[in-house]
Amino acid sequence: MADIIQLLPDSIANQIAAGEVIQRPASVVKELMENALDAGANSIQLIVKDAGRTLIQVIDNGKGMSETDARMSLERHATSKISSADDLFHLNTMGFRGEALASIASIAHLEMKTAQIEATIGTQLLVEGSKVLEQSPCAFQQGTSIAVKNLFFNVPARRKFLKSDQIELRHIIDEFERVALPNPHIKFTFHHNNNELFHLEKGGFRQRIVSVFGKRYNEKLVPVEEETDIVKISGFVGKPEAAKKTRGEQFFFVNRRFIKSSYLHHAVQESMRELIPGNAFASYFLMLEVNPEFIDVNIHPTKTEIKFEDERAIYALLRSAIRRGIGTNNVFPSLDFEQESSFDVPLKPSGEIRAPQIQINPDYNPFHESNQAPKSSGGNTYNAKESSERERNNLENWQKLYASNPAMAVAMKPHVFAQNESAQGEQQSFAVHPETQGQKESSKAVFQLHGKYILAQIKSGVVLIHQSRAHERILFERYLHALNEQQAWSQQQLFPQTVQLSAGDAELIREIMNELQFIGIGIHEFGKNTFVVQGMPSHIENTDAQTLLEGVVEQYKNTMQSVNLQKNEAFALALARKTAISTHKILQQEELKQLIDELFACENPSTTANGKAIIHTFSLNELDKLFNT
Ligand code: ADP
Ligand code: MG
Repeated sequence: MADIIQLLPDSIANQIAAGEVIQRPASVVKELMENALDAGANSIQLIVKDAGRTLIQVIDNGKGMSETDARMSLERHATSKISSADDLFHLNTMGFRGEALASIASIAHLEMKTAQIEATIGTQLLVEGSKVLEQSPCAFQQGTSIAVKNLFFNVPARRKFLKSDQIELRHIIDEFERVALPNPHIKFTFHHNNNELFHLEKGGFRQRIVSVFGKRYNEKLVPVEEETDIVKISGFVGKPEAAKKTRGEQFFFVNRRFIKSSYLHHAVQESMRELIPGNAFASYFLMLEVNPEFIDVNIHPTKTEIKFEDERAIYALLRSAIRRGIGTNNVFPSLDFEQESSFDVPLKPSGEIRAPQIQINPDYNPFHESNQAPKSSGGNTYNAKESSERERNNLENWQKLYASNPAMAVAMKPHVFAQNESAQGEQQSFAVHPETQGQKESSKAVFQLHGKYILAQIKSGVVLIHQSRAHERILFERYLHALNEQQAWSQQQLFPQTVQLSAGDAELIREIMNELQFIGIGIHEFGKNTFVVQGMPSHIENTDAQTLLEGVVEQYKNTMQSVNLQKNEAFALALARKTAISTHKILQQEELKQLIDELFACENPSTTANGKAIIHTFSLNELDKLFNT
C-alpha cells in the first residue's frame, strides 16, 4: 500500500494552533499587548472596532523589529524569548511559545509596521491567512504597530460562534485590565469605536486600580505587604464592608502575569472569613513576585494557570499578610452588611407597588371631553385589561397551590380584587385566605419570620415565602412589562446626583441607558465616564444613585454571563435584584399581605427569573406527621 502520511502545510498547522491560542477577539488583545510588554514599551495603545470583529490594533513604543525579524515573527515556533529548554526555568517575559503571531496571521488580515530605535526607516508587512502579500520599507517611529482585521475571515464557524458585541467587548475589557493593572509604570489607552474607554497614566499600583475601577475604590483598599525568600507579596484587599454578593474584582498577578488560582483565592477568603458574611466575596488585587525557577507557567496554552513549587507556603504567607494588613489598618467589619447591600425600599410609600386600583370609570362617556379615563397611580403602568389579567393570574396561581388537593380547590373561594373595589390599599382584601369571605380571622394568619420569610396559612396547610425573592419577582415582571410594552415608568425629579464609574462599567451603562430611562431613572452622560441622575421612580427614590448604578451594572454583568436571558430580561432582573427589599426589612401586616397579593398576581410566582425557589408549601398532613398525630 502507498504511504499516506504527509506533513500539514504551515498555514493549516497554524490554523490548528490558532484554535487553541485564539478563541475570540480578546485573545488577540491579550497576545498583542503581551508582546508590547515584552518589547519593553512604556506606552501602549489599544484600538478596537466592533468589539474586535473589524479591527484590533496595538501600537507600542518598544524596541521594534528588524526587517528580517519582522518577517520571522510570523513563523510558527519563532521567538526571541527563549533559545534553550533551560530558559523555560528563567522566564521573565510574558510570551515564549512563539506561536501567537503565526496563529493570528493564519486566521485574519494582519498589518505590521515596525522600526528599531536606531533605524531611519521601518518595515511594513501585509499578511492574509498566512500569506505575505507585501513587505516594504515604511516611515515609522520607534516601536511596533500590529493591526488585526477581519478576524476569523477564513474560519466561518469561529466567526459565527462569536457572542454579541457587548459580550466580546466585555472579554476584551477583562483582558485589557489584566494587562494594565499589574503594569502601572506603563501608560495605556484603549479606544473602542472612537470612544476612549481607558486613559491610564503612569503611576503606582493603587493609582492604577483607582483609574481602572473608579475613584471610590481609593478608600476601600487596604494595603497588604510581605517579603520573604519564597515570595514577595504586595497589593491590596478590599475592606471587608466593601465585599460584594457576587464575585467582584479579584486579581492575582504572579510576576505581573494574571493568573487564576482557586487555591490562593481560598487563602484570601479564609483570611477574611470572620469579617465578611459567608455569601459575600472580597475584592483583591494581589501581586506575587516569585523566582521564575520556582514556577511553571507552561501548563496551560493561554497561561492563566501556574504551578508553584511551594504552594502551601505561599498560601500560609498570603493569609498571614492579609490578616496583618487588615489588623494594622484597623478595619472593622460593618455590622449591618445586609442592609448595605440592598436598599431600604419602602414597600408602598407612594402606592407604587400597590395592586391596580380603580381602573375602569363606569361613567366614562367618550363624547364628553372632560370625562377622562382615570390615570393609574404613580409609576403603575397597568391598565384595566392588565389589571383583570393580574386578577386572573392571582386566582389561577392560588388554584395551583391548592391543586394538590382537589377537594380544597373546590372549597377555596379566594377573594381577589374586584375592579370596583375601594381604592384604599389598606382595605383591599387579601387573596391568601382561602376560607369564606368575611372570615376576618384568616387574613391575620400572616407572619414575618426573622425579617426573611413570610408564613401564611392556607387551607391545606401553610405556605412559606422568601420575602426578598418574592419582591424581586414582582419587580422583575413589572420592569419587563414596562420595557416590552414600551410604557415609560413615571419619574420623580431629584436633586441631580453625579455618578462616577470605571470605564468598563460606564460602557455597560451606555448599553442599558435606554432601559434605565424607561424605568424612570433619569440618567444622562456628563463627560468622561461620569453620569448625572436627575430622576428616579418613586419606589427607589431614596437610593443613592452611585450605589444603585454600580449594583445594577454588577448584577447585569453577572446575569449576562451566567444566565441565558435576553437583554431586556437580564436588565429587568439586574434592576429587580438591586431594588428588591432587603432581607431583615421588617414589614407591616398590610405590606406583607400586599406583597403576597402582588406575588400571586405574577405570571410565575414560584421561582425567580433565574430559577430560585420563592415558595414552599407544607400540607397539614406533613405537619401532622412531624408530631405523629
Ligand atoms: P512569543 O511572544 O511567544 O515569542 P509571538 O508569536 O507572540 O511569540 O511573537 C514572536 C516574536 O515576534 C517575539 O518573540 C518577538 O521577538 C517578536 N515580536 C512580536 N511582537 C513584537 C512587538 N510588539 N515588538 C517587538 N517584537 C515583537
Ligand atoms: Mg507573544
